[in-house]
Amino acid sequence: MTPQETSDAPSTTTARNGVLPGQSCLNCEADVTGSYCSGCGQRARTGRITFPRLLRSFVDHLISVDSNLLRSFQALVRRPGAFIRAFLLGRRVGYARPLPYYLAVVALNGAASAVLRHPAETAADGDLDGSFWDENFVALQIGLAFGLLMLPLAAARRLLHRGAGYSVAEHFVFLLYVLAQSILIVLVVQVALWPFGIALSGDAEGLVWLTAFSGFVLWASRGFLVESRWKVALKLIAAFVMLLVGVGVIGLIVQQFASR
Ligand SMILES: [Zn+2]
Repeated sequence: MTPQETSDAPSTTTARNGVLPGQSCLNCEADVTGSYCSGCGQRARTGRITFPRLLRSFVDHLISVDSNLLRSFQALVRRPGAFIRAFLLGRRVGYARPLPYYLAVVALNGAASAVLRHPAETAADGDLDGSFWDENFVALQIGLAFGLLMLPLAAARRLLHRGAGYSVAEHFVFLLYVLAQSILIVLVVQVALWPFGIALSGDAEGLVWLTAFSGFVLWASRGFLVESRWKVALKLIAAFVMLLVGVGVIGLIVQQFASR
């Protein structure tokens, strides 16, 4: 039940002035002592909605989303392992959550690949007779599918790095951040090659991505896992093998069912 539905709904005067100390929250009716409600987090002084306020809160929201994304990006560039570890341990305010961060990167990559791909090369590619939109829709789908692939990989890493004490979900968060960064690295490579008229073929792009992803996993594992680098590298190879075998087995099962 919202406060508006109760018989003693706040008058417009109360709403205009916000909550005074000792009064109850306009959102959840808990007692408010500070500038924010300790029950629901709403600001004590809400005030009535005006057009300037509407605009300001919208701009504030955009800026905070932007600065959270930027702050996470900077932390992931400078000290990815320590950042992700601190995030999992609870330092979260002011940083973008892993899923929104990843989705923002996938969206940016989709938009950028639309600009970077020359129409001529798109046609020469051949395997997609698709238009501009088809191509970029595929880029988005691949991005999301890769995100899902991180789930079995996280499970494999949970098994291989049992001593680290992270859950599958926590390994998934690690991999999602790393995947986002590896997509950005591929994007940077593409942007760097673009002035020379070079566009990566699908295979080359895959190879650059795999190198960037593996390298970034190794780098980010420093400060995230307490294991020597060669152990982390061997376990990453093992995780890839487990993933390939897993995908292969699922593929075979699907084929069996499909052929019936
Ligand atoms: Zn409240």
